[in-house]
Amino acid sequence: MQGLKNQTVIVTGGGGGIGSATCRRFAAEGAKVAVFDMNPAAAEEVAAGIRAAGGQAAAFQCDITDRAQVDAAVAATGAQLGPVGVLVNNAGWDVFKPFVKTVPAEWDRLIAINLTGALHMLHAVLPGMSERRSGHIVNVASDAARGGSSGEAVYSACKGGLVALSKTLAREHARHGINVNVVCPGPTDTALLAGVAEGARDPAKLIEAFKSAIPMGRLGRPEDLASAIVFFGSDDASFITGQVISVSGG
Ligand code: NAD
Repeated sequence: MQGLKNQTVIVTGGGGGIGSATCRRFAAEGAKVAVFDMNPAAAEEVAAGIRAAGGQAAAFQCDITDRAQVDAAVAATGAQLGPVGVLVNNAGWDVFKPFVKTVPAEWDRLIAINLTGALHMLHAVLPGMSERRSGHIVNVASDAARGGSSGEAVYSACKGGLVALSKTLAREHARHGINVNVVCPGPTDTALLAGVAEGARDPAKLIEAFKSAIPMGRLGRPEDLASAIVFFGSDDASFITGQVISVSGG
């Protein structure tokens, strides 16, 4: 894909399922990948795997809910890998339970990770991109933002907020040479989905229900998401902004 050779890319939640596949795919396109995760071992494993395969990557421990950590990790990325050209806001977390059984501490944590974390990252990265008149932002939301999802009310609200935020930032930054798009995974085979299923009475039954609702008849694979994310992070998508695409098997 165009524009990725030696481009500096940050992927938050880069140690997880969709994030690690995305990091590997960017690296395969020649990008320098900053693997951000609050789990340092997971981030380092992904970065080391990329380097072992001949690619360029560095791991950064960063809890995106903490603005000071975000600022430090973004500054370290700039110093080690160069000015940030692509930001993928991918880190996320979910709980599965009926809305009336959720407690405010859970809402606070869901909002902190899924929405405020993205705000911190965007605030840290957008001024530099605006100055350079160049940048690609890809925000990873969820199909839950589009159609709702029983058992995921607050998560859906956060992801809906991320979609609205992205559309607004796309308008604000279009004249600055920055595009902002959203990729919405459907149920995808990662630790997050397994964690969501654990919240159900019968986890295997919930996964089957997710699967049978997908026209293509299977869960998403992290690589399915990585293809779309890397496309929107490349210059191939330069004239596309404010768009929301589902990668969900139909
Ligand atoms: P995952 O659990 O495999 O990976 C998430 C990663 O984010 C983990 O490595 C975790 O350590 C990291 N993380 C969590 N909180 C963080 C924080 N505060 N700071 C930094 N890192 C943090 O999950 P995944 O399925 O790969 O999810 C990736 C994205 O896709 C998320 O935004 C999720 O909401 C979204 N999504 C996933 C599915 C699915 O079915 N898997 C469906 C819809 C949307």
